[in-house]
Amino acid sequence: MSKRTVITAEPCGFCSGVRNALALINEVLQTEKNVYILKGLIHNTGVTADLKKRGCIFVENVEDIPEGSVTIFGAHGVSLAVEQGAAARRLRVTDAACPLVKQLHKAAGALTPDRELVLFGHRGHPETEGVLGHSGTEKIFVVESADDVDSLPELKAPVLLVQTTLSHIEAEKVKSSLKKRFPAADISVSVCQASLLRQRAVERLAPECDLFVVAGSSCSSNANRLRETAERCGVRSVLIDDPAEVTAELLSGVRTIGLSAAASTPESQIETLRARLCSEEF
Ligand code: SF4
Repeated sequence: MSKRTVITAEPCGFCSGVRNALALINEVLQTEKNVYILKGLIHNTGVTADLKKRGCIFVENVEDIPEGSVTIFGAHGVSLAVEQGAAARRLRVTDAACPLVKQLHKAAGALTPDRELVLFGHRGHPETEGVLGHSGTEKIFVVESADDVDSLPELKAPVLLVQTTLSHIEAEKVKSSLKKRFPAADISVSVCQASLLRQRAVERLAPECDLFVVAGSSCSSNANRLRETAERCGVRSVLIDDPAEVTAELLSGVRTIGLSAAASTPESQIETLRARLCSEEF
């Protein structure tokens, strides 16, 4: 019997958006070769490596894709300019953007030029760029924290949109700061349900644990948020992409480990990590 108990947070791992994106790419790969993936499919290094092995070509710019090629837009979505660029190059596109991200595109696109958009999101993240790239207004302000709300100029009635994978606690802070500063602000949205449920599961479990481990890649926003969620509960927490990163030093003196996984982490990776955390080797 293992010296340690590993308790898995429920839910964790794949969300519906990721499952949908993987189902679409698998379908495309049944009949096509030389498939171009624009701006990544999902943020998991193992999945990306596997897709490369299966012949997928990852590019960051639509101009890097030869005219007429089979192309997948990733789960984080793309901007209107990218969609138009793809149409101009007659790319044969499968759009694997999560329907919830598409809802954000629609909400941003519905804003008339006189409205103000405040996006709580990480600058440079593909989802943020995609949402901003659909905005119907040029009065755009990106905030990365509640503190950033203080630095905004005077606004009349800003509409808040939220990157789907951020911390629900931070999103609430941004909402209340925005409402306090601009009482007419529309703050009706928050993170997606999958992110919310995964973070709440970590909040429930973390106080019982000596160590919290999140399976996921460092490029994954929601993986980082899960690790931070456990840390906020006062528990030492680590993000592990490769189960080989588990060492005796990491587990020294640990009796109870909480385990969660990003929405982009495959079940096989979670299982391998769980087995290693339980291993008698350490
Ligand atoms: S984390 Fe949420 S928005 Fe992102 S792919 Fe999953 S369900 Fe969709």
